[in-house]
Parts: sequence; structure tokens; C-alpha cells
Amino acid sequence: MPELPEITCRAREMNAALVGKKITAIEVVQPKSLNVPVNEFIAALVEAEISGVTNRGKWIFTQTDQGWLLLNLGMGGEIMLVTRDQLPGKFRLLFDFDDGRTLSVNFWWFGYAHFVPQGELESHQMTAKLGPNALELDQTGLNHLLTGRRGRIKSFLLDQSNLAGIGNAYIHDILFLARLHPLRQIDTLEEQDIARLSQAIHAGLQPSVDKGGAFYEVNIYGEKGGFTKEDILVGYREGEPCPECKSEIIKIKTGSTSSFICSSCQSS
Ligand SMILES: [Zn+2]
Repeated sequence: MPELPEITCRAREMNAALVGKKITAIEVVQPKSLNVPVNEFIAALVEAEISGVTNRGKWIFTQTDQGWLLLNLGMGGEIMLVTRDQLPGKFRLLFDFDDGRTLSVNFWWFGYAHFVPQGELESHQMTAKLGPNALELDQTGLNHLLTGRRGRIKSFLLDQSNLAGIGNAYIHDILFLARLHPLRQIDTLEEQDIARLSQAIHAGLQPSVDKGGAFYEVNIYGEKGGFTKEDILVGYREGEPCPECKSEIIKIKTGSTSSFICSSCQSS
């Protein structure tokens, strides 16, 4: 499942490839991924010129001169820039461009392709309630978000309305780098814990952004990301030695999810 590093990379790739290009045709295979009827979606975006592509958490924001195209891959998928004779086997939407290329969007299961008119982004509920981009949050911002909050730190970090972009792939290493147990109560965090957590969020996400995302995802040209298993510190490394203290990495149940931790480095 793509998380902030992968979606950040896809948005940058799309921005580099598509700004200035015009959408000439749209094909929708999965109408239920849209927020408006198919004909309305197509009428709104055909002839639109792309002016910029960014992301907030796992959402891709494509700005055009006719409004916004918002994409979310849900549980996973691929966004690929191809030509019509190279179309991938599976796709849910196709956007043809005036340079002869086609953006193919596939959701493995279910995703979102939403049209939002110019100036109405704040009324798009699914993105309006997102917290700040995890990578753009500094220590002061994190401190502010955590003030007065209760509950477990892991659940807090995974909740996209608090901060956007952290999911189950990167959370384990972020908490390890912060030396925090996933079940640590927020109201027991001290300033130094928050300082470490702020650094850990960056240290846990930025290397993957720099390497084009995780190895199990592909970029818009079909190339695998360069962030490999060797780059992961404790996540999914049950039974292996902790890179810091050599204690065994264990898998524990934390609510409805599992966590990978070093029980000595992350005792509390
Ligand atoms: Zn350790």
C-alpha cells in the first residue's frame, strides 16, 4: 500500500511530466471511484491543462485550469504514463494527453478519482479533514498537535486527520527511531520524546522519498522504488537483531494491528 514517500514521488513525477499538457479524452472503467457522474467528470476535465501536481499524505492533487483532479489509490494501485499501444493489463481510468501519452490509473481494489471545481477544495470533505503533511511538520507543529491529546501514540500517528501520510509500512521504524513503544500514552510524552519523534518522522520517511519510494511500488514509468528491505530497520524483521542493541526484534499485537519493536530500545 503506497504511503507518503511513494505518493510524494508519484506527484513529483506527474508534475515533471504533465505540467502544460492538456487532457484530450478520459475513459472511466470504475465509475464508483468518482464523486460525480461519469459524463460530468469527463465534461469537467476534458480540455483541462495541468498546472501543477502535489500531494497531501496519500492524496494526489492535480491542479488544472478547469478545477482539481484528486487521486487516492486506496489499498494500492499504479499510476503509469504510457502510450495507447502500451496500456497495462488493468486500469480503472485513462487520461489521454495532447502529447500522445496516456495516464493510466489502476486501483487494486478501490480508490478515488474526484473532481473538485476551482476554489472549492475546502468543501471536499475527504481531503479537507486531513492533517498536515507528515514531512512538512516541524517539532513546534507536532508539539501543538499533541498538546492536550490522549490515547496511544501509534494510533495517533496513523490517524490521517492528525497528520497525513504515515501508514503501516513506515510506522514501525518511525517509532523505533523515536525510541517509543507503540502503546505509549500521549499525555506521558516529555519534550525530549516529542523532539525525538519529530526527527524520527523525517528520518523514517525522507530516505524513501529520496530513493523513489518502496521497492514493491513502481513509478509512473514502471520502475521499482529504490527503498529496499535492507533500508528497513525493525519493520517486518521479527526474530532479527535490533540494529542498535542487538536484542531480538519482536512482533506484538497493538489493538487491531501488529507492531514490530525492539523491546529494550522501545521499553516505554
Ligand atoms: Zn534495540
